[in-house]
Amino acid sequence: MTTTAVINIASLVTNDPSLGNGTPLGLIRDAAVVIEGDRVVWTGESSKAPATDNAVDAGGRAVIPGFVDSHSHLLFAGDRTEEFNARMSGLPYTAGGIRTTVAATRAASDEELDANVSRYLAEAARQGTTTFETKSGYGLTVEDEARALRIAARHTDEVTYLGAHVVPADHADDPAGYVELVTGPMLDACAPYARWIDVFCEKGAFDGDQARAILTAGRAKGLHPRVHANQLGHGPGVQLAVELDAASADHCTHLTDADLDALGQGDTVATLLPGAEFSTRAAWPDARRILEAGATVALSTDCNPGSSFTSSMPFCIALAVRDMGMTPDEALWSATAGGAAALRRTDVGVLTRGARADLVILDAPSHVHLAYRPGVPLVSAVWQRGERTL
Ligand SMILES: [Zn+2]
Repeated sequence: MTTTAVINIASLVTNDPSLGNGTPLGLIRDAAVVIEGDRVVWTGESSKAPATDNAVDAGGRAVIPGFVDSHSHLLFAGDRTEEFNARMSGLPYTAGGIRTTVAATRAASDEELDANVSRYLAEAARQGTTTFETKSGYGLTVEDEARALRIAARHTDEVTYLGAHVVPADHADDPAGYVELVTGPMLDACAPYARWIDVFCEKGAFDGDQARAILTAGRAKGLHPRVHANQLGHGPGVQLAVELDAASADHCTHLTDADLDALGQGDTVATLLPGAEFSTRAAWPDARRILEAGATVALSTDCNPGSSFTSSMPFCIALAVRDMGMTPDEALWSATAGGAAALRRTDVGVLTRGARADLVILDAPSHVHLAYRPGVPLVSAVWQRGERTL
């Protein structure tokens, strides 16, 4: 197999604390990375790099692991421009807007849905995302949820069943009946395509008892839990997530001290989604407080047409640094290794021997520029599974 070295890297983020400067980022100056097939086989100082078949000169720029976007909702049709416009003109965000997208998604063909996913994934890839999770949740019938997951599974292994996104209008008078559907025939139809099960545990969506029933049923079918928790207000979602050993509790905007204690003790990652607070003009989660509680923090886009229509991890990093109290190093770690932890993966989000060869050359001397130069397209080259894709 041919080997390729990326050389002349001014600053390399490995996310291996045993390498480089001893921080969580494992930062190495004047570095090189050697790729063989779809794997990283060597990382270290340029002067010590082994001989390789090919070399790519990074030109004194920074290299980081590809972003791991652990929370997105890409199986949808239509958009919600008017709702966004109204909200930015003073109306509040509520969970009910999801129903608008449900109607458009049900009406779309398989080809339209697939084309939409492809389009947003290409957009994310151009911004450095090399691993992503995506969810159903805009079908909300047995057939439409299964179809969404079948299409999602063509694009990623990280597929999440979110039949419990909101109670659809056709079940508005019978939420208990809808939970039975989600935990019964819908789950049976969806489980073959999914790795994860998720629930929007929030006032206006599903309460703690319903969420527990849904996640427990999913687990019995071999799906692992993750939870939309504590986005719009305080609630049982975070503590339920930790209790059920969910891979992540996502949003974590409104946390009590007991929620923080739970996150600090369990393996559940707190996934922060600053695009949602940006796009709904909501209060920011306090990342500093969550980190100080000892929790692992991931950053993700929450890309969806209602509350966070961005596929840009660099944008989320900039928001996390500016408005959520994260340092540039913490934000970069959370957008790579943190996302991997939220998907319980150790092969992505790191650039160390044996990792998947997913890496990004930034048009900057340091990863700090992702927050320092917000809105600037700094991704200049991307390798995914050892193949150069940009
Ligand atoms: Zn979400």
